[in-house]
Amino acid sequence: MDLHTVESFRLPDGPDDLRLAPGETWLAGGTWLFSEPQVTTTGLVDLTALGWPDWELGDGSTGGLTIGATCTLLDLVAHAERSGLPGLAVARPCVEALVMSSKVSRRATVGGNVCLALPAGGATSLLTGLGAVAVVWGPDGERRVPVAALVTDVRRTALGPGELVRAFEVPRASLDATTAFRRAALTAMGRSGAVLVGRREPDGGVHVSVTASTRRPHVLDLGAAPTEADVATAVATIDRWYDDPHGAPDWRAAQTLRCALEVVEELA
Ligand SMILES: Cc1cc2nc3c(=O)[nH]c(=O)nc-3n(C[C@H](O)[C@H](O)[C@H](O)COP(=O)(O)OP(=O)(O)OC[C@H]3O[C@@H](n4cnc5c(N)ncnc54)[C@H](O)[C@@H]3O)c2cc1C
Repeated sequence: MDLHTVESFRLPDGPDDLRLAPGETWLAGGTWLFSEPQVTTTGLVDLTALGWPDWELGDGSTGGLTIGATCTLLDLVAHAERSGLPGLAVARPCVEALVMSSKVSRRATVGGNVCLALPAGGATSLLTGLGAVAVVWGPDGERRVPVAALVTDVRRTALGPGELVRAFEVPRASLDATTAFRRAALTAMGRSGAVLVGRREPDGGVHVSVTASTRRPHVLDLGAAPTEADVATAVATIDRWYDDPHGAPDWRAAQTLRCALEVVEELA
């Protein structure tokens, strides 16, 4: 759609050119920005002009992975599958959980999906499931925030004024982890009602991330040999379930428990 309030469009030429003027906002793939009116936006700053690398895998058996915020969802899946890393086996189902057209997945970026902070953000599901950390750039320099803490509520993040996400860092232990994925939706092609990603790390610890059924991501740290009771207790600590036409809160809570038990069983 035409953004009739937008009067300027900037291609930044480096990190020093990343100060937002009043009314400016970051543009990544534009699949959401151009999908509805942005009445308070008067200028766009195109992050894809910065040429950030999509994928930087550290050396040997100890290096982690850095995913550029402007990597598209389609390229994320391609890189993940080419890597053959066991922890990244959940990349495709997480991205496909978005149920979007190939036109959108070719343009939508990992950073845009996380920063939009929708409960059913597939990149948010993947990155919280992998225990990833966001590298945040802003007027006061660089800081790191776990993705699970970056998304704070529906359409809300912990980003301050003028801040952006430069990249996401995935620890090596998550790349080497065994992972499992479950999704619940009211209809086969419907918006996700619950998305759970579990990983068993090389040290045996089991971690399960809960997204789509909740207003923000939750991570359940379950130890090495969780019982059904442990899983139920952990799920019961979630105090606010998301409520929209894609699922009632009690249904989402029940689906989350079912999916969490299945994920833990698969990782046993
Ligand atoms: C048909 C269709 C189906 C969809 N289905 C889903 C779905 O099931 N689940 C879901 O979550 N979403 C869904 N979406 C929305 C989708 O999340 C977004 O379209 C997409 O992921 C956003 O990525 P983008 O790169 O296009 O971001 P943009 O549209 O460019 O930006 C989105 C927002 O993030 C900000 N932003 C972008 N990159 C950064 C960054 N690096 N740092 C800080 N801020 C940044 C922008 O300023 C803007 O506010 C759907 C969209 C369409 C069109």
